[in-house]
Amino acid sequence: MTSSGGYHARKSNAADGKKDPQIHNAIGETGHQAPAAGKLLLPEITHIEARALNASLKAPFTIAGARLDTVRNVAVRLDLADGSSGWGEIPILPTVTPEDQPTALEAARQAARAWTGRDAGRWRPLVEELADSLPAAPTARAGMEMALFDALARSWNIPLFAYFGGAADRVVTDITIPICAAEEARRLAAEYRGRGFVTLKTKVGADVDADVERIKAIREGHPTSDLILDANEGYDVPQTLEVLRTLRRKALEPALLEQPLPREDWDGQARLVREAGVPVAADESCRSSADAARIARDRLAHVINIKLAKCGVAQALEIIAIARGSGLGLMIGGMVETRLAMGFSAHLAAGSGAFRWIDLDTPLLLAEDPVLGGYDADGPRYRLGHVTAGHGGELAW
Ligand SMILES: [Mg+2]
Repeated sequence: MTSSGGYHARKSNAADGKKDPQIHNAIGETGHQAPAAGKLLLPEITHIEARALNASLKAPFTIAGARLDTVRNVAVRLDLADGSSGWGEIPILPTVTPEDQPTALEAARQAARAWTGRDAGRWRPLVEELADSLPAAPTARAGMEMALFDALARSWNIPLFAYFGGAADRVVTDITIPICAAEEARRLAAEYRGRGFVTLKTKVGADVDADVERIKAIREGHPTSDLILDANEGYDVPQTLEVLRTLRRKALEPALLEQPLPREDWDGQARLVREAGVPVAADESCRSSADAARIARDRLAHVINIKLAKCGVAQALEIIAIARGSGLGLMIGGMVETRLAMGFSAHLAAGSGAFRWIDLDTPLLLAEDPVLGGYDADGPRYRLGHVTAGHGGELAW
């Protein structure tokens, strides 16, 4: 006999062939279930719509292999029978996301046909069926999941940060300094210091000497900041160790080094975990809970960077559990997204309390803000406490 714990008690009931009356009444075994009197816990999905979400950037966004002048994402609205609507976003980043805007729109419409008429509260089967039917569109699936969880939270009248655990109702984000001339990096670092940012991130990996010069300039512009370096797979092991040695000599060591190596260089990553001397984060190397399990088992990183656009909401929750259970640190980031997707991620980070590193700055790079409501930004601080349901953001459709 199990000595304690509801989970074990339920398991042994199931083993005896008896139904747990609570579970049975709430969920049912198959098909649709009439809601309990006066309650609509599992409202039906009545309509889903996906539209282009375009927004101009203040300056072109450049990473290794991609340059973006205008954000051309896709927004999703998911309506429930009780009148609640949830909002999700599908970011499009050429060479990073498998989808472009037309294929993301088409995938979202396929998903809409599959989900319309289903019970929103049965989110687990909805998510798993979509993974089977749209295997080549993970970003579109993630946007659908966001809209689904947001709609449910709004239906239940709770903010998403409460749904995810209620650990906090605010987050503090870093801000990214692009690959640019050292003088410009110094100016930006000083400006961000003035605006209250305490963590800066910069892209490296294109040119080792230029990287070191820019890091030095950032340190001069903001001497007390924590610094994250993101190489986007741009180094090999000897280059990584050499850059870190040089930075250490100059007292410029980063607080975190993100994805220095190509995503499949697992042996190199294992070596860096032992030899880098600074925490190393897996971003491109971790796109699913299966990747996270491998990273945890074989000690292939110190930190995992979760982006909802890579893995969706359901797998993000699994990755959080894997990381917590195995002592890995967590970072949350995004693609180039508006406050729809960033707001969802901010609620997940705040509510779960699981993330040491918060990299949710891309709405600050946009020349316009198409999102109504949602979090309040004050410099690096995103406040969620006033949000009464869901992530609180929406578009004027
Ligand atoms: Mg990254």
